[in-house]
Amino acid sequence: MAEAAGTLSQFILKVHSRCNLACDYCYVYNGPDQSWQYRPAVMPRQTMEIFGRRLREYLVDRPDVRPHVVLHGGEPLLIGTDRLDFLATSLTEALAPLGRRARMTVQTNGLLLDSTVLSLLLRHEISVGLSMDGGSEAHGRHRRTRAGTSSFDGSTRAAELLRSTPFRSLYGGILAVIDVRNDPVEVYESLLELEPPTIDFLLPHATWDAPPKEGSTAYAEFLIPIFDRWFDEPRLKVEIRLFASLLELALGGVGYSELFGPARPPAIVVETDGTIERTDSFKIAYEGACSTGLDIFSNSFEQAAEHRFFASSDGGVPPCDTCLACPVYRLCGGGMAAHRYRSGSGFANPSVYCDGLAKLAEHVQGRAERALASLPLGRDAPGSHRGSRD
Ligand code: SF4
Ligand code: SF4
Repeated sequence: MAEAAGTLSQFILKVHSRCNLACDYCYVYNGPDQSWQYRPAVMPRQTMEIFGRRLREYLVDRPDVRPHVVLHGGEPLLIGTDRLDFLATSLTEALAPLGRRARMTVQTNGLLLDSTVLSLLLRHEISVGLSMDGGSEAHGRHRRTRAGTSSFDGSTRAAELLRSTPFRSLYGGILAVIDVRNDPVEVYESLLELEPPTIDFLLPHATWDAPPKEGSTAYAEFLIPIFDRWFDEPRLKVEIRLFASLLELALGGVGYSELFGPARPPAIVVETDGTIERTDSFKIAYEGACSTGLDIFSNSFEQAAEHRFFASSDGGVPPCDTCLACPVYRLCGGGMAAHRYRSGSGFANPSVYCDGLAKLAEHVQGRAERALASLPLGRDAPGSHRGSRD
């Protein structure tokens, strides 16, 4: 179930603010917000302990909330095994008096994943989200080291370890950023070969100030063949979160993707210096776009939940009049809020991916309606069964 607006359940913990890769599309290092330069590279242990105490304090009166803590960066595994062990242990100990545990995930490029790190993750039940963009050519276009070499072999090794016994249970899924120069079905099949339980496709971050140079419908033309292949599988091989969420919206549900739907899952970021921010995608708009003025040393998560970024289902970014009047608004919701930004009018615009989002939403809606119409009464539409979700 999606959490109610104002209830925090996803906590993104920036444990390391540097990276061992230099992907050219990385908004953290190449975008207008360069705040990573002024923050500690590594989250201090004391900050980790305070995070655990703040989380416990927040959960006391919320027995129904199962917190999801996502370790993020930069590259979070740069903190090393000692500090990772310390963080997981201190968080577990902080919540133990409540008889609760946080679900934990690490989102990584995989280069530092080896059997030692995976054994530690297994001990603490920390699942792994792996960033990979497809096969060798697709992945190597952007995901490169500072020396310019592709990270494909290192990330593929990580996927192979995650598929193997005893680490398979840790395999959370793959996050892939789209490049429309790649063949969509080839990308999908390359990712399927890695046997992830879930795949999420991300649009490269863009705003009206820096629009996607291929135009926005190219992204729908990339995603539609993958959707069709996935939707037509006799048994779905993988959950594709973007499509599953869109289908849920098409079938009258609420959805749960950051990209689609009028209501977005509330997520809160804690940076390496303990400051509380909204999700990173806003960093593509302007320096300071994520700031709340709050930090975990002085403020509780209770106070943070009242901030306009977290208190309402639109994340404090209401849809513009064009979106509200749009025939696919119930599915699209105006797209990712950060993608609506334009200097001067701020976020009061349709998404810079508007045409592409409309085309994809209409396609998914049409296929869902045709599938429903062809079913005997009482059956679920193809694709309406999905596995676990964040
Ligand atoms: S691995 Fe992630 S954080 Fe590191 S440079 Fe690439 S996109 Fe940025
Ligand atoms: S398709 Fe465009 S106008 Fe319609 S809701 Fe989405 S972003 Fe807004």
